[in-house]
Amino acid sequence: DKYKAGLSKTRSSFSAKLNDLVARYRKVDEDFFEDLEEVLISADVGVNTVMELVAELELEAKRQNIKDAIDLKELISEKLVEIYTDGDYTAEVPLNLNSAGLSVILFVGVNGVGKTTSIGKLAYQLKQEGKKVLLVAGDTFRAGAIEQLGVWGERIGVEVIKQSEGSDPAAVMYDGIQAARSRGADVLLCDTAGRLQNKVNLMNELSKVKRVIEREIPGAPHDVLLVLDATTGQNALVQAKTFSETTDVTGIVLTKLDGTAKGGIVLAIRKELNIPVKYVGLGEQMTDLEKFDPNAFVYGLFA
Ligand code: GDP
Repeated sequence: DKYKAGLSKTRSSFSAKLNDLVARYRKVDEDFFEDLEEVLISADVGVNTVMELVAELELEAKRQNIKDAIDLKELISEKLVEIYTDGDYTAEVPLNLNSAGLSVILFVGVNGVGKTTSIGKLAYQLKQEGKKVLLVAGDTFRAGAIEQLGVWGERIGVEVIKQSEGSDPAAVMYDGIQAARSRGADVLLCDTAGRLQNKVNLMNELSKVKRVIEREIPGAPHDVLLVLDATTGQNALVQAKTFSETTDVTGIVLTKLDGTAKGGIVLAIRKELNIPVKYVGLGEQMTDLEKFDPNAFVYGLFA
């Protein structure tokens, strides 16, 4: 229900546009398909996907001899669901936790996308599941980042491992791992800096942090989650490309879906980058993080 509510902006915008299109055309012709392309692109479902979808629809309309736009409407949703639930896409991809010991989850992404908030929300969820969670304040660059994570830690009753602003993130990470070991923690959630203005530095810093984790715990990090802001639309796609070029991103947390009419971006990411979306953010509260279920999502968006 929350899922559906979180997608309501996208759904109502999309269906309003679609209804409007159907009302305007009534009969299906070439112009109809052109306008349909625009509607789909404006929902940020991704240009490649739109092209694929519309080509298929044109074929299918011919094959089934569909002339009325209203009859095509149903088919549009059906085809969208089909495209996105094709093959592996149907599966929910869970967090990759190490059942035999400490799990390390690294969060990456540019400033302002909701990284800190998502770490707090996930920490809350894992704690609810009975896991012992520790947070690592690895964003030592942005003013206030350490304190902000500290606030989340207090709110949910989870310890935050930190050093002062400007310190070496790799050293903080090392501290975090030692603390996790001595406290017998199950999961370590690690924040990282998100300045993209200096891409080379950022990426070097990330590699260094990752090397510390890999050296200390074979097989870690168990997940590298890229946090993306759904309200930035295609920009999120560009960020995803940039990060996945330099880091092995194993999953995506897509935030602020509640605040956008462009929820189709999830589908574009999934389809064009082939990185599973693992969680979606549907609000600012600690309970507003949901595991991503592709099927439910597509139905929530378009049905
Ligand atoms: P960071 O710089 O990436 O760590 O971003 P923050 O965690 O500080 O989040 C930036 C802003 O986005 C804050 O005001 C958050 O409350 C807000 N935010 C984060 N996730 C969500 C979400 O899923 N929905 C909404 N509506 N706001 C969010």
